[in-house]
Amino acid sequence: MQSRAPGFLRPEQSEPIVPIQEEKIRECCPGLKVEPWCGGKDDGVHPYWGPIRDSMTGFAVDETIRFRCSSGGAISALAMHALETSRVEQVLHIGPDPKAPLGNVTILSRSAEEILEGAGSRYAPSSPLQDVEKLLDAGVPTLFIGKPCDVSALRRLGRIDPRVDEVFPIKLSFFCGGVPSHQGARNIVASMGLDHETVAQFDFRGNGWPGPTVARDMDGRHAEMEYEESWGRYLSNEVQFRCKICPDPVGGVADIACADAWYGGESGYPQFAEAEGRSLILARSKVGRRLLQDATMAGYLVVQNLDPREIDLMQPAQARRKRLIAARMAACRLANRPVPDTRNLQVATAARQASIGALAREFLGTVRRIIQGRI
Ligand SMILES: Cc1cc2nc3c(=O)[nH]c(=O)nc-3n(C[C@H](O)[C@H](O)[C@H](O)COP(=O)(O)OP(=O)(O)OC[C@H]3O[C@@H](n4cnc5c(N)ncnc54)[C@H](O)[C@@H]3O)c2cc1C
Repeated sequence: MQSRAPGFLRPEQSEPIVPIQEEKIRECCPGLKVEPWCGGKDDGVHPYWGPIRDSMTGFAVDETIRFRCSSGGAISALAMHALETSRVEQVLHIGPDPKAPLGNVTILSRSAEEILEGAGSRYAPSSPLQDVEKLLDAGVPTLFIGKPCDVSALRRLGRIDPRVDEVFPIKLSFFCGGVPSHQGARNIVASMGLDHETVAQFDFRGNGWPGPTVARDMDGRHAEMEYEESWGRYLSNEVQFRCKICPDPVGGVADIACADAWYGGESGYPQFAEAEGRSLILARSKVGRRLLQDATMAGYLVVQNLDPREIDLMQPAQARRKRLIAARMAACRLANRPVPDTRNLQVATAARQASIGALAREFLGTVRRIIQGRI
């Protein structure tokens, strides 16, 4: 995977691809096919939030983990539990690139300390599956943490390669508002008055909930920005278009998906005021339910039941986007632009919950952006 302007990771072909590999790519690439959700709306699958076995809020019992991690530290605590109870021998996820701290590298963690080093949300491109073939060959039981599209790709690979579920018995994900290019973080650093070439450490958030965006340079200079500004003003503007038509941004095929359990404000929109971390935790499969129950019993997590209707108040931007992606995709189809296969992801059901006016505005807005060459 190579970084291409304005800073997205793209696959680079280094040798001829034989037809069987080509077919594998066609089946698994989430730009083309997204793994369908299990069940339909008659099985209680929510059109925005996907399949839900258990809907909870919670946080890591260990104060350091809760503080350091992105939301309440649920993902890291679950991974630590799986590792320390020998369900897996390692955790495949991402962390900051030591050579270019605005970016990410794929890491294999074999201890709680290493898991914590990779904790926190990193709003920059990542490719945690880049060495999946090598890991499948090595056969070491591994817990996987990745974006919803990464888990979708892994599930699809599992359809044609039976080793996937043996090597990756647990797959965790998070709600994803989209991946910004590296330019997003560079713009933050520039607005802080620092040079991105000399940044030695960069945290997008964490160390609190949501915690500030923090940059430190090689001369020891340090600057901070509130999360609301770094995401709202800089990062969200750099999100790639594929993410804006993502039919499964909620990790619907992960065993467990986590998100920010924001507290809804009076306006009906979430408050980003600093608070003690709290994760939204959705167990989606038998494997996920079991892991969540065991981690809670073993004292890694504290959880509380949550009525799934509450998620609408915590995640209004995700709900709105799911309602509107059908309109965005219709515009793409009209312009002969590629869109991913959205079968069994409740895109049409979600669209029926939007007003005709909102769908029409979104459709025309997307057509305009295509004509202006902004997509
Ligand atoms: C690009 C992006 C967009 C997001 N959008 C939303 C959103 O719209 N709504 C919402 O509620 N939550 C969103 N999140 C998720 C949220 O920020 C938290 O990650 C989630 O609530 C889990 O918190 P935690 O404390 O349990 O995670 P932690 O315990 O801190 O663990 C986070 C894990 O995610 C992995 N990770 C971090 N960044 C990436 C990345 N770029 N690619 C792959 N893996 C990564 C880390 O390696 C770590 O293992 C987003 C996260 C990212 C990275």
